[in-house]
Amino acid sequence: MLIDTHAHIDGEEFDEDRPEVIERARQAGVASIFIPNVNPSGVGKMMQVCAQYPDYLFPMIGLHPEDVDAHFHEALDNLEQLLTDDNPFVAIGEVGLDFYWDTTFKTQQLEAFETQVQWALTYQLPLMIHCRSANLELVEVLEKYRGCGLTGVFHCFTGNEEDVMRLLSFEGFALGIGGVLTFKKSKLPEVLAHHVPLDRIVLETDSPYMAPVPHRGKRNESAFVEHVAERLAEIYGLDRKAVEDTTTHNAIKIFKKYPLLRS
Ligand SMILES: [Zn+2]
Repeated sequence: MLIDTHAHIDGEEFDEDRPEVIERARQAGVASIFIPNVNPSGVGKMMQVCAQYPDYLFPMIGLHPEDVDAHFHEALDNLEQLLTDDNPFVAIGEVGLDFYWDTTFKTQQLEAFETQVQWALTYQLPLMIHCRSANLELVEVLEKYRGCGLTGVFHCFTGNEEDVMRLLSFEGFALGIGGVLTFKKSKLPEVLAHHVPLDRIVLETDSPYMAPVPHRGKRNESAFVEHVAERLAEIYGLDRKAVEDTTTHNAIKIFKKYPLLRS
């Protein structure tokens, strides 16, 4: 069994055929799909979609760095209100820093991220972290909380050996590995094989984005996570079942609430 730890299956890209997409995921051995939230206005739709597939879809809560603007305090207040004692969220996410396209709200992004790191501690949830062109700044924030028991996933990891060393020095964290691993020119297979033990990896699609080979360039969906598992099996010289078992075990360890919500 596999877990897709990061899929935007609540997106409008799936409005026409979500039941079929979920059926194909089940057929491919996907046991559950975790859905990141990106802003307050998306929560309603996400919860509605999750309600249609309880026991299969599990939501997260968070303000995405690209959704941080001058009104981020209000957005964070709205989101935090949903973090009640019996909230259904498996993680705080997706949160982080993204200075790739736009650094207009750099300081706001940093503040919003740190606030949500504190939520992860207060509400005892893992972090689903998005980081682009901001690795050093990200580590600087996390460094302040080293040893506090933070856990989580560095989603869509595509870095080099140095990045691995920096990020995996945070013990409760794993790398989220998806379609990029299967791309022909990707250096990721080599980086993983030499520097990342399989017990620090969780699977993800980031669908509808980042479709793996042989679907590259098309809409991605959770069923395609099997191609990522297959490639990992090749890289680590293991059979596919071992990769599925280990990465699922890793996910359950990090997303502690998931098995409780499921039973
Ligand atoms: Zn995402």
